[in-house]
Amino acid sequence: MTDITQFNTRQVEDAHTSGVYPKRPITIVRGEGALLYDDAGNAYIDCAGGQGSANLGHCHPKVVAAIREQAGTLLNCPEIFYNDRRAELLDRLTALAGMPRAYLCNSGAEAVESALKFARLATGRKEIVATMRGFHGRTMGALSATWEPKYREPFEPLVAGFKHVPFNDLAAAEAAITDQTAAIIVEPVQGESGIRPATAEYLRGLEKICRDRGALFIVDEVQTGFGRTGKMFAHQLYGLQPDLMAVAKSIAGGIPMGACLIGEKLGTMPPMTHGATFGGNPLACAAAIAALDVLVDEDLPGRAAALGGWLMERLSDLPTDQVREVRGLGLMVGIELRSKVTPVLRALQDQGVLALPAGLTVLRLLPPLVISKDQLEQAVQAIEKVLAALPEMS
Ligand code: PMP
Repeated sequence: MTDITQFNTRQVEDAHTSGVYPKRPITIVRGEGALLYDDAGNAYIDCAGGQGSANLGHCHPKVVAAIREQAGTLLNCPEIFYNDRRAELLDRLTALAGMPRAYLCNSGAEAVESALKFARLATGRKEIVATMRGFHGRTMGALSATWEPKYREPFEPLVAGFKHVPFNDLAAAEAAITDQTAAIIVEPVQGESGIRPATAEYLRGLEKICRDRGALFIVDEVQTGFGRTGKMFAHQLYGLQPDLMAVAKSIAGGIPMGACLIGEKLGTMPPMTHGATFGGNPLACAAAIAALDVLVDEDLPGRAAALGGWLMERLSDLPTDQVREVRGLGLMVGIELRSKVTPVLRALQDQGVLALPAGLTVLRLLPPLVISKDQLEQAVQAIEKVLAALPEMS
């Protein structure tokens, strides 16, 4: 075994990693609020937000305290037994979602898999309709709902029965959803493919078509959930009532967890039709209870709405010809550039700001919702500086 010091972390990771992640040359060792620190002690304003898992900021003291407490009490308890922490979480989560039941799991892809399986179980139908440019995860079922050919093609044949329709096109959905359709799955804001908000009419229309044809309406709120878009869940902005909802990322304040919320009309699923060893484990549940408390007590959805509105305006007013469009909802913001995003991400990192791509040309910002306006302003100034230097960089 190698002696891992701060000097060879990257070498050792490179030697043993699976290779599926493109890496950035930076070693993150600590986080607090909206800041991340590298192994040389440099601070970065985190607009990558753990890819959406850091809505509460890094190491929120209430989440950390709940994890510490539960770690010394009970880590693991399969769902064949009852558990106090799980009961408390189920009660809180279902109340916030306005949906009476939840299946607990460990990631976004698993939450989506559950929703797809429950939709087939509950309807006895096979077909699933998904949207072009939609992203739902990388396991075989979730991947079958995901659109991007470069994610799908190496793994074909995928699960049968999936079709993709143009996003924000109700007529196309109307034509695709039939009496054979188990469900449609949609992101309220398409995240991975470039921060593309669905219109209110589209989402309301989809819900109605589903009701009319006996299909289920699945919202994938893995990226939009837990305050990101200015409401606890994005679909609540439009008064929707999904039949199934996939959530994950920030649900447990930064530790792995996912959930599939189940609507009233589905009732319970037949025993033994689904399950996961770590689903509903007390450690994740304790963290999630604390995380939900923080989201409500600190009104993080309200912060996202207020700061997000300000940020979108600020970005739209940047004196640059490098930006095609600024899109988003709350603190889920995409800046569509006229050029590739990778050099911009690299230059931003040199300026002390970490951000994400969404597709090839969109700069995606998912800052923790606890970020201060000052920190956001610093991030905007860094973006302005980097965009101003762009013609020289390329
Ligand atoms: N659905 C959506 C909308 C997502 O954005 C993601 C992750 N980016 C997933 C599902 C998959 O989540 P996970 O990476 O936790 O499997």
